[in-house]
Amino acid sequence: MFSGFTEISNVLQQNSTIFITVSVVLGLMVGSFLNVVIYRLPKMMEREWHSNCLELQGKELPETTKYTLAIPRSACPTCGHMITAIENIPVISYMLLKGKCSGCKAAISMRYPLIEALTGIAIGLVSWKFGYTSTTFFAWIFTFALITLTFIDFDTQLLPDDITLPLLWLGLIFNLNNGFTDIKSAVIGAVAGYLILWSIYWLFKLIRGKEGMGYGDFKLLAAIGAWFGWQLLATVILLSSVLGAVIGISLIVFANRGREVPMPFGPFLAIAGIAALFSGPQLASYIGDFILKLFI
Ligand SMILES: [Zn+2]
Repeated sequence: MFSGFTEISNVLQQNSTIFITVSVVLGLMVGSFLNVVIYRLPKMMEREWHSNCLELQGKELPETTKYTLAIPRSACPTCGHMITAIENIPVISYMLLKGKCSGCKAAISMRYPLIEALTGIAIGLVSWKFGYTSTTFFAWIFTFALITLTFIDFDTQLLPDDITLPLLWLGLIFNLNNGFTDIKSAVIGAVAGYLILWSIYWLFKLIRGKEGMGYGDFKLLAAIGAWFGWQLLATVILLSSVLGAVIGISLIVFANRGREVPMPFGPFLAIAGIAALFSGPQLASYIGDFILKLFI
């Protein structure tokens, strides 16, 4: 058993094609699970708030409405058909079912296979970039978390503490052994990440009298600071703001989106976080040079 494990480990270490292929398959499977988290976690949070409110009134949520990541089993929202194991194979089942429920032929959202494919590709790229190392393992988790946060924020304008806070701790733990940066930079990065957005939030609130961001954004930037250190914060903020502004303005101009419709900032922070993962300090120096050229 043990020697078998060592053999597999050796193959993965020596053959990067096999390692990347295994990673993509793993990414596809985890992507399928992320779909569940993206759909259910906000609903679970809502239930918890609801149950807390009831508790204040001395009441309880009925036990029959138990709802977790595992219970109830996934079913078609239209006809209640239970998703079978074979219908749960990432991407492939969607193609075999031609995007329709096998029970009632209702269309299945394209988003499910797209998130699975995105996760598979992202994890493949991480494995290609960092190789068969412990860094890859941490970078996988970072990527899973950011993909999940992006879509939850996009749907609900929420960035659940259940993801942002463990992500922050994990970044600090990873950097105890100089993962992407030293532990001192990581701790300062976490604190500064939170405080920078917190200050902008209050400034905005004092000047304009409204809220432009949520506390979840502060925690996400704190987490990114914990992973890459304070040195990359300016780059991440700049990149996410530019992306957010370009996409926000395009949506208003080309898609007739209302000016007052709130736009989640989390997805842009997440994209900047992934950019930091792949190019780190180089990214900071490119963007620094680019800005210098704009002004000089
Ligand atoms: Zn159905």
